[in-house]
Amino acid sequence: MATMGKKTKKGARDVKAATKARGPKYVYFFGAGKADGKAEMKNLLGGKGANLAEMVNINIPVPPGFTITTEVCTRYYKNNRKYPAELKPQAEAALAKVEKIMGRKFGDPENPLLVSVRSGARSSMPGMMETVLNVGLTSKTIPGLIKKTGNGRFVYDAYRRLIMMYSDVVMEKASGIEPAEGHAIRHKLERALEGVKKDNGYKSDTDLTVDDLKKLCDTFRAIIKDTLHKNFPDDPMEQLWGGIGAVFQSWMGKRAVSYRKIEKIPEEWGTAVNVQSMVFGNTGDTSATGVAFTRNPATGENIFFGEWLPNAQGEDVVAGIRTPNPVNNAGKTEDTKHLSSLEEVMPKIYRELFAIQKKLEKHYKDMQDIEFTVEDGRLWMLQTRVGKRNGQAAIRMAVEMARQKLIDSGTAVLRVKPEQLDELLHPSVDPAAEKKAVEIAKGLPAGPGGAEGRIVFNADDAEAWARRGEKVILVRNETSPEDVHGMHAAQAILTAKGGMTSHAALVARGWGKCCIVGASALNVDANKKEISVHGKVYREGEWITLNGTKGRVYEGRLPLKPADPDSNAWYKELMKWGDRFRTLKVMTNADTPNDAAVARNFGAQGIGLCRTEHMFFGPDRIKAVREMILSDTLEGRKKALAKLLPFQKVDFIGIFKAMAGLPVTIRLLDPPLHEFLPHTDEELRSLSVDMGVSFEQLKAKNKSLHEANPMLGLRGCRLGIVYSEISEMQVRAIMEAACELTRDKVKVIPEIMIPLVGHVNELALLRKLTNAVADIVQKEYKVKVPYTVGTMIELPRACITSDEIAVQSDFYSFGTNDLTQTVYGLSRDDAGGFLPYYIENGILKGDPFITLDQDGVGAFMRIAVEKGRKIKKDLKIGICGEHGGDPKSVEFCHNNGIDYVSCSPFRVPIARFAAAQAALKK
Ligand code: PEP
Ligand code: MG
Repeated sequence: MATMGKKTKKGARDVKAATKARGPKYVYFFGAGKADGKAEMKNLLGGKGANLAEMVNINIPVPPGFTITTEVCTRYYKNNRKYPAELKPQAEAALAKVEKIMGRKFGDPENPLLVSVRSGARSSMPGMMETVLNVGLTSKTIPGLIKKTGNGRFVYDAYRRLIMMYSDVVMEKASGIEPAEGHAIRHKLERALEGVKKDNGYKSDTDLTVDDLKKLCDTFRAIIKDTLHKNFPDDPMEQLWGGIGAVFQSWMGKRAVSYRKIEKIPEEWGTAVNVQSMVFGNTGDTSATGVAFTRNPATGENIFFGEWLPNAQGEDVVAGIRTPNPVNNAGKTEDTKHLSSLEEVMPKIYRELFAIQKKLEKHYKDMQDIEFTVEDGRLWMLQTRVGKRNGQAAIRMAVEMARQKLIDSGTAVLRVKPEQLDELLHPSVDPAAEKKAVEIAKGLPAGPGGAEGRIVFNADDAEAWARRGEKVILVRNETSPEDVHGMHAAQAILTAKGGMTSHAALVARGWGKCCIVGASALNVDANKKEISVHGKVYREGEWITLNGTKGRVYEGRLPLKPADPDSNAWYKELMKWGDRFRTLKVMTNADTPNDAAVARNFGAQGIGLCRTEHMFFGPDRIKAVREMILSDTLEGRKKALAKLLPFQKVDFIGIFKAMAGLPVTIRLLDPPLHEFLPHTDEELRSLSVDMGVSFEQLKAKNKSLHEANPMLGLRGCRLGIVYSEISEMQVRAIMEAACELTRDKVKVIPEIMIPLVGHVNELALLRKLTNAVADIVQKEYKVKVPYTVGTMIELPRACITSDEIAVQSDFYSFGTNDLTQTVYGLSRDDAGGFLPYYIENGILKGDPFITLDQDGVGAFMRIAVEKGRKIKKDLKIGICGEHGGDPKSVEFCHNNGIDYVSCSPFRVPIARFAAAQAALKK
């Protein structure tokens, strides 16, 4: 919003400067080497208008025309859909200039000028607003144009296109008529056209003769009169103003309004209208039309790339009615090698076009998407804009443009969206196949990438099926730590419930696994082994495909494209450049040596969060954990913990080794104990046999551990205080591992982290305990290890009393998952049920568990940073909630004095890149 205000002001200035003489300037002329506008005036002239002016300014052949500013659109809506008085005379004056350049007159019976009327907003809204071509064709001008071109067929074809577009856009849509399905005027006219083709046995529109077209135009006019009860206008000026009005009307059209909502384009931006002299690519064999990109938008290869059609109008290329030919020989593929290129058919024109696209790319310093038309052997450029590209292409283009010195390396880094790196880090669903696929449900995009597999409903089945070589997708209502083995074996995880920080989401993201959570349309019946959704049923063994980047579930198997970032030299180079600008450190959340190694390979500078509870679930130790929980005496618990100690120690040794020389932040036990016990009677029964304890005893224990609000209950440091023996065991395991490795000359930097501290006394107590145990262990091993003791900041009270907490803490790590939960009072496990409603209805801009809520949660963080650093100037501060891998949240961290972010291994490159961009932007 802040930038919008600035831009609007600038737009207003543009108007003022240009209108000192004749009141406000609403019309900007362009043509014959001179334009009133320029590229920087996008806010006022829209993207298309500004670029048309810019092309004219750099001497590129553009059909002359004029742009009616976005300001007119805004005023039109403010003033009850009335134009400012200055508009008409200004437009007429500009039209006269166009007529002069073209040597034709609008509405002239001998030598008529035809124009196009197109929309052009600040940021492109493809297909959302209206266009009318061939405006100015009337019963008076048609004969003149036929005489002049000697091509009646062309003229009547242009006329039938005008009638089709105009009646649809101006006479129906802009008049607010909403016909029933299939009754729209456009459909009626299309049916009439198809009828003529069918009656004559024609395959394509080009088979229609001049007489067919002439008759068709009469039929069209009769249908219009019959349907809309109005005559098709035969006055050129009426057509022109009708077209202009329809473009402005389309700004408030249903499609445009919902597109703006999705893309967050403000309504007050308005659209511009471009009125431009028509040039025709369909006057015969010396005419053509095409679209092209200055580089390949799919691969990024620096090769001029495009498509063209001889004797055609632009819409024919886009509509896909005829298969377009490649623009040049370099762009030919197996499928198109038999088609003639523009390079072969019109070599002179091609050379001119080639030079123009080079010039445009050099001028705009970015890949351009261009539209051109050749009319009777003369080349015209109709549009240039920055071309859309996929992630792989974006990376390659950015690096190659920097190497060509077209841009500098900082600009190259800013050119690629951090999310675009994702495409390289995970296999992805083939976009062409996805377009045609049958969508089963939508959910939250918890783990990126694509995956296909057969549906299974429980973790054991997932594991068993995978063991016999099947690809499976584990579908659950929600997952729990008990499911981890099945989640690991599955290609992907799909849950009907849960949000972005649910168990499934955290675990999947940690592994870089495709995952969709909160797909609430799914009714998952794990007993019946079926999913029902919108009346359809999917059973065990059926194939589905997930796009975890978008959160879409599809029927059947869709082809996947593999990921292989290491083989991509451009990616590696760009990451290297990014790191040169980056000041924020990037650590990882990892609980196993393997995750640690993967993350290090991705450039992690240490571990920012090792969740020790994940280690408790290993099949070799869960029994000891449960024994500890079930024991009612301190002695019994200590005995069980003694069994756990060697396991933890081995875990830590592995992790320290994988991260040798880098800090490893280990968090003491955090979740409530009931999470380590099974919940159903059936599972409890089997556990009771396993452990030699009665079922009743187990049931009673389970009941005693039950809490109404476990997230606010006996967890975090409270657990480590009440059961201090657990903390003692964990600190001992960490320090024994560290001492052993230090003795073996491996450099270890342990950072012991206390979770969920709300009061400084909690931290003081556990810090004292930690130091005492660490002292003992170091003495036992006779080595010194440079360890630190810090805390997570994940409660509002901790933020507010940060000046007290800092006294007891060597470092802070914001647990923004819990902090979001507690600042917002929003359950991280249940929000998935209603947050989508909030977001869809614009109550919240986004999910605060994905992108940090900077105004609320962020404000608490700022307080904590400020108060903490008042006590300790150099207090090391990081963040280890899921936000650590979210680009916008990373930027917030950079801008607010945070030293590092920590995120799951597969997001490390994205965080590195986002941090580099944040530094460059600042
Ligand atoms: C957090 O709360 O942000 C955090 C990292 O801890 P966890 O997600 O394990 O609660
Ligand atoms: Mg937490």
